[in-house]
Amino acid sequence: MKVTNVTCHVLQSKVEQPFTSARGWLYTTRASCIVEITTDEGITGWGECYGPAMVNKTIIETQYRQRVIGRDPFDVEVVWEDLYNRIKDYGLTGMTIAALSGIDIALWDIIGRAVGRPVHKLIGGAHRTEVQAYATGLYFIDMDRLVEEAVEEAEEYVGQGFRAIKMKIGLGDPKLDLRRVAAVRQAIGPDVKLAVDANHCFTVPQAIRLGRAMEELDLMWFEEPISPEDHDGYVEVTRALDMAVAGGENDFTRWGFRDVIARKAMDIVQPDVCAAGGISECRKIAAMASAHGVECVPHAWGSAIGLAATVQFLAALPDTPPAFRPMPPMLEFEQTPNPLRDHLAKEPIVQQRGIVRVPDGPGLGIEVDRAVLDQYKVA
Ligand code: CA
Repeated sequence: MKVTNVTCHVLQSKVEQPFTSARGWLYTTRASCIVEITTDEGITGWGECYGPAMVNKTIIETQYRQRVIGRDPFDVEVVWEDLYNRIKDYGLTGMTIAALSGIDIALWDIIGRAVGRPVHKLIGGAHRTEVQAYATGLYFIDMDRLVEEAVEEAEEYVGQGFRAIKMKIGLGDPKLDLRRVAAVRQAIGPDVKLAVDANHCFTVPQAIRLGRAMEELDLMWFEEPISPEDHDGYVEVTRALDMAVAGGENDFTRWGFRDVIARKAMDIVQPDVCAAGGISECRKIAAMASAHGVECVPHAWGSAIGLAATVQFLAALPDTPPAFRPMPPMLEFEQTPNPLRDHLAKEPIVQQRGIVRVPDGPGLGIEVDRAVLDQYKVA
């Protein structure tokens, strides 16, 4: 089998009610670069790249596309190494790797469709047939009702069946952050799991101080407390706090994760399959994490394709540590309005009582709806 073409579709939808995290007013639109790879055997695979979609498309079309055409999709890691070594003088990390991730995911989708098996059966097998999902939301929308809106949204997720929630913090006022997290914990009760995500807005002492104050609220983890470049700082925060510290959505490739994992700078690493180098590379990152006693719980933020790829990867991740009643790695199921996540697959990935079934159809286990693709396509 040979690749005949690589096409990038930039999809975009408008966000009706803009929301923000500690990073600022980022979200007035949702966009994704969707990668479609066709073959001479009529099999088509789909992938997705994280981050600025037009940049991903340009990198793929000008740097990668011609080197993928004519290749055998089963040589997925050979292609990976070739593309990485082609680009690394100009981009060891970031958007070049996100673009590579979309190609890697599409090639795995093709392999799965060619052999009639879901991707997780090709990368080690099903450690689980369903995954526990946590709802990511509780961004900042109405600056006059920050506590109230967080409580209302958390209660909505509990009403929908979620048993775990991740909320945003980083309001420039740690007392307000603490009050908001405490109000959500109070509203959802002690049995729904809760995590916080600061999108790397704190200094080391700010993170340690707020972390200590939040410890009595029984949090699953404190995500991205400080800037991703500051590995020494992560070591300090992680050692200082009893609760788990997480991060890694801004790290890329096995080399990018090597230092944070070997130094146990985080308790939980969160590679994104659409950013960190695809399914091939995230498996290597997960293996390295396992060898160092660090948990791997992938980050996810995108369309139905990225979500499906994340679920396939999660299904094949072992419990760390294995136990009689293990606490398996959870799926980040982001809940802000996004038609690309909810409608791009003909059979969308959904949760019931906080559980997502791992699709067992071939490849990523979803079928892309061409009409929806065309509806949101802007380039
Ligand atoms: Ca995050």
